[in-house]
Amino acid sequence: MTYKRKKYHKGDTHLKKGWRTRRRTKDLDQIDEDLKDENVKNLLNQEVDLDRPGAAQYYCVHCARYFINDTALQDHFRTKVHKRRLKALELEPYTIEESERAASKGSYVAPQKRKIETIIRSSSNMDTESEIPSNPKVAKVDA
Ligand SMILES: [Zn+2]
Repeated sequence: MTYKRKKYHKGDTHLKKGWRTRRRTKDLDQIDEDLKDENVKNLLNQEVDLDRPGAAQYYCVHCARYFINDTALQDHFRTKVHKRRLKALELEPYTIEESERAASKGSYVAPQKRKIETIIRSSSNMDTESEIPSNPKVAKVDA
């Protein structure tokens, strides 16, 4: 006799996976720190690191993720996850000052809304990457 009962319980492995330290990406307040001009510059112009996907040359600052090539990065900019992340970063992170203001120490100021736009590496910095082939299409790997 075949087992007819429908399986409803899927376990919590998928939840646990998201919280594993190895898989854990940056929190929003850490990314907020990364969005400052000098940090963005460092993150977008990282040294060639062969342990990272795409040798750390294709990085999305907002999602703290590396991509294997330019195409993958551009595709990512159009995805739901990335757009959702931009929206989430629009609100300034919660600060101690804000919590004190909320506890009626001083006047309460609502968190500022900011306009967040996708930050991409400017082409003027391209001359530094001599170890990467100049034409990314040559190195493209079909998925
Ligand atoms: Zn992203």
